[in-house]
Amino acid sequence: MPELPEVETVVRDLARLVSGATITGAHVFRERNLSTPDAPSFTEAVRGRRILGTRRRAKWIIVELSGGLLLLVHLRMTGQLLVLPATAERDSYTRLSLVLGDGREIRFRDVRAFGRVALVAQRADGDAASSLDPHSAPLLADHGVEPLAAAFTVDALCSLIGHRQTRIKSLLLDQRCIVGIGNIYADEALWRAKIHPLTPASALRSAQIEALHLAIVGVLSEAVAARGSSINDYTAPDGDGEMQERLDVYQRTGEPCHRCGAAIHRSVVGGRGTHVCRTCQRAPRGLGRGVTSRAVRGPRWSERVTPETVGATHSERAAARRRSSSQGEAA
Ligand SMILES: [Zn+2]
Repeated sequence: MPELPEVETVVRDLARLVSGATITGAHVFRERNLSTPDAPSFTEAVRGRRILGTRRRAKWIIVELSGGLLLLVHLRMTGQLLVLPATAERDSYTRLSLVLGDGREIRFRDVRAFGRVALVAQRADGDAASSLDPHSAPLLADHGVEPLAAAFTVDALCSLIGHRQTRIKSLLLDQRCIVGIGNIYADEALWRAKIHPLTPASALRSAQIEALHLAIVGVLSEAVAARGSSINDYTAPDGDGEMQERLDVYQRTGEPCHRCGAAIHRSVVGGRGTHVCRTCQRAPRGLGRGVTSRAVRGPRWSERVTPETVGATHSERAAARRRSSSQGEAA
């Protein structure tokens, strides 16, 4: 799944390629990838808009359009944004396209089709609204701190950690705390900081928190400079990234640690692969090496979805409705 560096690369490529272009039409090939509004309203609303620029919030790509509209794209698992001549052949995984006045198209291609597109208004405070009404609630309000923003200081990380007992890797993956870090860069940052992923956050000493802060900012910045990691389906409008060649632990199971030479070990925590050097990253005290199978996990993203969450799939929304109705019965 694309993480902050990959999404940032797409945002920068798009800015260079399509800023100033005018959208003359749109095609919605698969309506389920469009969160809001419906396809006819979407097509009508984007027509004639100029692309003013792009920015990123968490893992959302935000394209600023004239007239106060924002086009939001979340790549989720396998989404891609491509800028191609309108005459280029379109394959069956293209879910949506925007026709530009200069003979090109922006195409949203997504093999697994979990990605999401939304067209919303910009609120007076600059945030994305949750619909075409600029007075509607902010869409991305529950997102945490941006790790490459000036506000993400060592003190900020300290206060996020606070007295939380949660495993440090789970905390890094929690988008309500810090945004944009997924499995690749969580494993990489923890290796750089020599911290075992299962260490309870509150057990970290201040020197470790400082090292972790440095590692997070360092690995994400280097990955942005390298245009992200082209693993699985990730690519950007201007081509693949190179960070996959420079990763220290992610998908290097059995290969020697770049620091000590011991074999990189992979275990499964909460359904996700976790890569560590068991020599450099000591397991927390009181936990043996077999601990990973007993690891507790926090709620998955899909379990936090409400029926109103933009970006949720239909099955996630259905599960959320079932949860809320059963809670209603219990109350
Ligand atoms: Zn090592």
